[in-house]
Amino acid sequence: MNTSRPVRVRFAPSPTGPLHIGGVRTALYNYLFARQHGGKLIFRIEDTDSARFVPGAEEYILESFRWLGIDFDEGVGFGGDNGPYRQSERRHIYKEYVQRLLDAGRAYIAFDTPEELAAAREATRGFQYDASTRQQMRNSLSLPHEETARLLSEGVNYVVRFRIEPGEDVVVNDIIRGEVRINSSVLDDKVLYKAADQLPTYHLANIVDDHLMEVTHVIRGEEWLPSAPLHVLLYRAFGWENTMPQFAHLPLLLKPDGKGKLSKRDGDRLGFPVFPLEWHDAKTGDVSRGYREDGYLPEAVINFLALLGWNPGTEQEILSMEELVAQFDLTKCSKAGAKFDFKKAAWFNHEYILHKPDAELVPAFLDLLRADGIDTTEERACAVLGMMKGRVSFVKELVPLCRFFFVAPQEYDEKTVRKRWKEYSPQQMRELADLLAGTQDFSIEGQEPVVHAWIEEKGYKMGDVMNAWRLTLVGEGIGPGMFDISAFLGKQETLSRMQRAIETLPQTV
Ligand code: GLU
Repeated sequence: MNTSRPVRVRFAPSPTGPLHIGGVRTALYNYLFARQHGGKLIFRIEDTDSARFVPGAEEYILESFRWLGIDFDEGVGFGGDNGPYRQSERRHIYKEYVQRLLDAGRAYIAFDTPEELAAAREATRGFQYDASTRQQMRNSLSLPHEETARLLSEGVNYVVRFRIEPGEDVVVNDIIRGEVRINSSVLDDKVLYKAADQLPTYHLANIVDDHLMEVTHVIRGEEWLPSAPLHVLLYRAFGWENTMPQFAHLPLLLKPDGKGKLSKRDGDRLGFPVFPLEWHDAKTGDVSRGYREDGYLPEAVINFLALLGWNPGTEQEILSMEELVAQFDLTKCSKAGAKFDFKKAAWFNHEYILHKPDAELVPAFLDLLRADGIDTTEERACAVLGMMKGRVSFVKELVPLCRFFFVAPQEYDEKTVRKRWKEYSPQQMRELADLLAGTQDFSIEGQEPVVHAWIEEKGYKMGDVMNAWRLTLVGEGIGPGMFDISAFLGKQETLSRMQRAIETLPQTV
């Protein structure tokens, strides 16, 4: 294996729908690997299965990576010297390589109709199209040459199959899994090309493109591991052993609860997205939630995904993209599947919100406030964010918690009133209002000593005063420190809220 070549990796999705979060993890690992080796990351669209093509999927995938900050060096939407990067635009190339295999006797033409194949499967349990059965089927190996030529000239439908020699030892050298060894006898003569749509199948297009695009490492999901021996044999058949990429099959993402692969149904059942962005299914009209629309920060999603299948081997959990690039180690990825802990995803979001400058969070917060009928300035929203963001995992959770900053309470929470509004509270609040009315400096630092001195002088209980005061300004028992609130509201609003509460709440003397 040639390790001295400059690193070139690719993410090669098939545009069959929205990108699954596992695919995002695959792309991320490719990105980290490329960046840390100063290599190139290619974005290739594998759209040779026309039956599964979904319009809009390619744009969706590109938009997802733009949002996440995963950038590519070459590919669909990025340009480069190895294009076209959309497989449907490379038919002429694949044709040439299929012909090479045919000419070398490494592939053959098969005319079996779907009915004939079904009949063969019916007749023999566990039927496999391979060296032991191909002579009984209708193909260029079993039919006389003239017959094959005649069928071809008549335009009869056919496929090209890979001629697999039985009894060969096939070794896949996997960076994560070590040597995966199988015998070629278990493989069937895979279809490489379909004349009907003049397109190769995934296997052929994938290998030819990896070769032509000089891919050095194939980093992809575990679900592709069963295809790897076939891919190794294809490299051999083409004589490309020396430039065969190294494989790394990433661990599966597992259900948060229990065994098995993470599916969209798990997300629906447990309430979390399995797609990076919201996806609108044009056929069914279904809308699937996305991390972006659910209020995740892209950095949090990146950090969370990076640790699904790999960790830096330290206690460090919060890692920026730069740190991930520096520390990521493909050889330390786990073989075992990674449980998809969506609660941990929310925790990461909390951490990222906490450390993100308020000014960067404020546009989203302002939008949410406006949608809730609250109009305020950027400056005031920013101040509230600073006071409150430590309490939530998502900016949207702030809106109900922060309403009182912008809108005076219209009602007072009954339970809090019962508990916090004592018979002496109206009197204390009247005194406090007078005191505050005379306070010049209404900042936190200006109010605090004045109020504390008054409480001490009167011999009041701090808790009693603060709880009642909170009720007057907030309407319930939530929120940050009282001086934070009153300083934010300002003198006039503070006094007017107190006044209203004193008039509205029970007047027990
Ligand atoms: N087109 C395949 C996919 O959708 C690519 C698999 C590979 O990376 O070889 O994931």
